[in-house]
Amino acid sequence: SRAFRRESFFPRLVLVLSAASSGGLVAYADSKQENAAEPPEKKKLVVLGTGWAGTSLLKNIDTSLYDVKVISPRNYFAFTPLLPSVTCGTVEARSIVEPIRKIVKRKTDPVKFLEAECFKIDSVGKKIHCRSDVGTSLNGTGEFEVDYDYLVIAVGATVNTFNTPGVAENCHFLKEIEDALRIRRSVIECFERASLPCLDEEEKRKHLHFVIVGGGPTGVEFAAELHDFVTEDIAELYPHLSELVSISVIQSAEHILTMFDKRITTFAEEKFLRDGIEVRTGYRVVKVSDKDVTMKGHSMDEVSVPYGMIVWSTGIASRPVIRDFMNEIGQGKRRVLETNEWLRVPQCDTVYSIGDCATISQRKIMEDLVEIFKMADKDNSGTLTLDEIQDVIEDIYVRYPQLELYMKSKHMIDIHDLIKDAKDDFELSIEDLKNALAEVDSQVKSLPATAQVAAQQGEYLAQCLNKMEECHEHPEGPLRITKSGRHFFRPFRYKHFGQFAPLGGEQAAAELPGDWVSFGHSTQWLWYSVYASKQVSWRTRYLVLSDWTRRFIFGRDSSGI
Ligand code: FAD
Repeated sequence: SRAFRRESFFPRLVLVLSAASSGGLVAYADSKQENAAEPPEKKKLVVLGTGWAGTSLLKNIDTSLYDVKVISPRNYFAFTPLLPSVTCGTVEARSIVEPIRKIVKRKTDPVKFLEAECFKIDSVGKKIHCRSDVGTSLNGTGEFEVDYDYLVIAVGATVNTFNTPGVAENCHFLKEIEDALRIRRSVIECFERASLPCLDEEEKRKHLHFVIVGGGPTGVEFAAELHDFVTEDIAELYPHLSELVSISVIQSAEHILTMFDKRITTFAEEKFLRDGIEVRTGYRVVKVSDKDVTMKGHSMDEVSVPYGMIVWSTGIASRPVIRDFMNEIGQGKRRVLETNEWLRVPQCDTVYSIGDCATISQRKIMEDLVEIFKMADKDNSGTLTLDEIQDVIEDIYVRYPQLELYMKSKHMIDIHDLIKDAKDDFELSIEDLKNALAEVDSQVKSLPATAQVAAQQGEYLAQCLNKMEECHEHPEGPLRITKSGRHFFRPFRYKHFGQFAPLGGEQAAAELPGDWVSFGHSTQWLWYSVYASKQVSWRTRYLVLSDWTRRFIFGRDSSGI
């Protein structure tokens, strides 16, 4: 029974998983059949979005197999993790974007790009309705339709205001390049306004109060960037104002950076305390006017605080086009568009969704787990010994590698502990197991909405699509998942490579695989190297590196242009 404990189980798990992953995607055809006749017309693949998910798919798709069209209202890819750096001029906006046409230029066959947004998905007629701002002068509306054989929805998400009054009108968001540039201008405007002679000291303080709503990675990173900007650059240029500046982070949970290890949360909170950044935890913003932000703490009256600039960074919500699509296909009650583990929208045969706009359904996995445990009960006693559970558990991980993430996530109740706690003598009835799994199911959160997940999904789906035709021609192959029958591919498996939280003052925190946590100056250098290496092209890599060097030598530009 000791072997079942977390400490000894995970190393074994890693072995099992690496064995599983080394197989990668499996396609069953050994060889491609020669086809002497005319090559058949290529299937039409339409990709919506040029963000992390869409771009990753485009980079990996075999364009000799598909007639690929990509549609997005922006004709570039933006490296979002560096957006907070753009808000204060640490990095220039142009340094983190790459035109999508450049990214797909080297593909075997051309990829067609259309600058437009999709406003309706017709999965029955297999077409999408689009509107182009740049095309309105051509036919009045700029609207057109595009047919597809396969559709990949990778439109990302929009900001979630939770319908809080005044947020849309008065808050800045930090989602797009334009948002970051607007924030940059607005920060400088606050200082210029506070420099005017008609304001007394109290009013200046109000104009120099910067509020960030949301203590997640984006909000925290922006607060840290702003603090650096104020102390390193603004203090020199506006010496009469630097004492009047204040930065507040409002967070509804009890801590900031709750998705990180507790040690990182503590380190960040202590660092912010030392830096004079106020962290108001346990407060929910209920209203934002053009001058004040009103919040409510647990069992407290509402408090209103004046601000000069406010940034709203509390999470994401589905875009209207996705909401309409969900209503049409019977997913109207869900919060996020749901796909199966192969990233396909279950209600539509040829529609896939990747990145922030979708989530992978977990319910079937849980049902299957109960089935697998039932099968392990060979003597039909209705109970499983721990040895029997152990026998099947590795099999489960091979079948459902994505469970690895749940097991490691500190937000999830550890399934092992649950099973262990279900019966003291470590014998478990199937009924207890069902209850335990139901509890895990309710705790299990979808994959995080990160660039890492989006990029891996894009790559996985491209590999599946590249093998699709071959698999249709040769559907034979080992049986994959129970119940649901044969699948051509292994389900999507997310590999977590860790996460960073830059905290300002040349310090960062990192949580890396293997429960490795580090923070401080050396971690900031690790952050620099990882983010430089992850750039989408040598051009942006060069630009980002030169921006960092420029900042070290000359400081940030505070002209607000
Ligand atoms: P996006 O990258 O948002 O791309 C969506 C694309 O769809 C865009 O091209 C958009 O123009 C297009 N689109 C929108 N509407 C339509 C439409 N109707 N029709 C057609 N196209 C449309 N993740 C990390 O892993 N690490 C980080 O450090 C990190 N830092 C972040 C910092 C900030 C400030 C932000 C905002 C996010 C950060 N993220 C980070 C999260 C990461 O950026 C997202 O998870 C990722 O961008 C999701 O990729 P996506 O392709 O799903 O969506």
